[in-house]
Amino acid sequence: MVWQCSLVVVAAILGAEALTLLFYSIFFSDRLYLDLLLTAAIVLVVAYPLAYVFLTQSVRLLHLTEAIERASRIDDLSQLLNRKSFLAETDALLTKCSTGSAGTFLYLDIDHFKLINDEMGHAVGDEVIRRMGLALQPWAGKGNVVGRLGGEEFAIFMPSGDPENAQILYRHIALEAKDIGRELGLGSQHVCLSAGVASHQSGQSLPALMKLADENLYKAKSGGRNRLEFGYPGIAA
Ligand code: GH3
Ligand code: MG
Ligand code: MG
Repeated sequence: MVWQCSLVVVAAILGAEALTLLFYSIFFSDRLYLDLLLTAAIVLVVAYPLAYVFLTQSVRLLHLTEAIERASRIDDLSQLLNRKSFLAETDALLTKCSTGSAGTFLYLDIDHFKLINDEMGHAVGDEVIRRMGLALQPWAGKGNVVGRLGGEEFAIFMPSGDPENAQILYRHIALEAKDIGRELGLGSQHVCLSAGVASHQSGQSLPALMKLADENLYKAKSGGRNRLEFGYPGIAA
């Protein structure tokens, strides 16, 4: 901040000196050096505090803008993309892909989460969601779009992924979820996940893709939970 203030002050002094030089060389050339000195001193006293105030405000505004921008994109509890940002980013990937499949959608839902809340309290439920966010975070760094869609529901869109990739990810996350349950001392109240997968087809819209993943998630739930459903036979979860 001192550096930027000094830069503003030096610029102000140079500007003021140039004007003083111009006027006094024409009208009062005998007092030129004294007045150049006085101009510099006056500008220094006036401009430094002003520059400090304005630059401090600008930096605060910048930080505030960044914080607001982040708060509008990131879910506070899981630190993953919120629903709105997740949908916007995934939709952009689908739109960008003009031919072929844009990737694979994985819909995750914690099983019997309400029971965890009811039996262990909402603070423990919140902690499960926070830790699920931490467990999913590393997958976000691989070109995937990872978000919390709401409540105990998460979604991952893998642009270069196929159902086998979704299966690998699911198995990994399901193991992490079990660890979360163990670490939080949930005992018989395991943290289990049901998941629905849908592979994008050329030209398919995001709502249509999500509907398919959601239907498969529903099948995973009605099929006994703690499982992954692709919606077609062939890959065993
Ligand atoms: P299912 O296996 O069918 O998915 O059952 P479930 O209990 O997981 O699902 P249900 O929709 O019945 O309950 C979800 C609960 O999640 C209800 C709601 O109070 C709770 N919930 C939603 N958001 C939060 C949150 O941010 N923190 C906590 N602690 N609970 C939440
Ligand atoms: Mg749910
Ligand atoms: Mg659930």
